[in-house]
Amino acid sequence: MGMGRLIVLTGPSGVGKGTLLRSLLKRHPELYLSVSATTRSPRPGEIHGSDYFFVTRPTFERMIANGELLEWAEFAGNLYGTPRTVVEEQIRQGHWVILEIELEGARQIRKTFPEALRIFILPPSIVELECRIRGRGQDTEDAIARRLQRAQEEISAADEFDLQIINDDFDKALNRIEEALFAPAVC
Ligand code: ADP
Ligand code: 5GP
Repeated sequence: MGMGRLIVLTGPSGVGKGTLLRSLLKRHPELYLSVSATTRSPRPGEIHGSDYFFVTRPTFERMIANGELLEWAEFAGNLYGTPRTVVEEQIRQGHWVILEIELEGARQIRKTFPEALRIFILPPSIVELECRIRGRGQDTEDAIARRLQRAQEEISAADEFDLQIINDDFDKALNRIEEALFAPAVC
């Protein structure tokens, strides 16, 4: 059995992380994508247990108090966190686990899992980012404004990450993620 590994994918909301990951998982179904808990309401089509575990704020707070989360953060008025047990178990079994999380969570993981590979996905521009969030058509005006404001802060922290990938041409960005994960280590 190979060595388990943790991979963190971060980048502003709307940059295309979810879409890139869906394609990556089609190419590499052996990768394990962690399902986060959140207090955000489901968007149309999102499925409990598959996209997120949608929980109430008291439930989330109980998970924090019980140490059930590997990391957690507040983002645009909602709480998001990574359930600990399943991730630790997958890594123990030798799987490669991907966390798709925002900046504060990625910083926490840097402390607890310094060996994790941390990738930051950048948009070609803020204007294009706004177009993608609007094009997705699933966020309110208030949520869009909060996401764009937060995007600026996140982008300015991109160089804290091991690798920065611009998601302009989708296939090129996907290939770069794939290379980062599967390229043989250089001595
Ligand atoms: P995130 O998970 O980062 O919030 P999504 O995966 O939901 O972002 O993508 C936001 C929108 O941008 C979606 O409508 C998606 O189809 C679109 N998108 C993703 N990558 C690209 C790209 N390279 N070029 C144009 N549109 C893209
Ligand atoms: P969205 O509401 O667009 O699904 O997600 C908003 C932000 O929360 C995104 O940047 C996403 O990466 C982040 N996020 C999703 N799950 C988690 C998590 O478990 N922990 C942290 N810290 N951020 C998360």
